[in-house]
Amino acid sequence: MILLLNIVNIALNSHAKISIMEKRTCNECGQNLTGRRDQKFCSDYCRNSFNNRQNEDATAYVRRINNILRKNRRILAALNPKGKVTLDGITLAEEGFNFHYFTNIYKTQKGSQYFFCYDQGYIKMDNDQYMLVQKQDYVK
Ligand SMILES: [Zn+2]
Repeated sequence: MILLLNIVNIALNSHAKISIMEKRTCNECGQNLTGRRDQKFCSDYCRNSFNNRQNEDATAYVRRINNILRKNRRILAALNPKGKVTLDGITLAEEGFNFHYFTNIYKTQKGSQYFFCYDQGYIKMDNDQYMLVQKQDYVK
């Protein structure tokens, strides 16, 4: 009987330790949580505040990338009114072109790469020269 009580005591003690280790707080305000194990917020208000802010950040990020892509497209289109032209990279950079962003790449069978911002594209050639092109029907 004593042995059995000891086992129960040990079980209770270890349970208490686990409870202390698993102390959880609200992701928004930091208040201690006492509810369900998967609870992440103390209230609907905190959950909504947290989620709204996450969405705002994501929306701002997407908007920023979209603006860069549209600006790149606008620059390429303005410099390439006839559909094909060769110019140097400095000209593109001076207009504020951002070479890190594009919508798709078209690879030729020979392995050349055209970078596109929507329907406007370019291929880098030797000596910092860029040939600007416009989307053809064969470009997927
Ligand atoms: Zn909270």
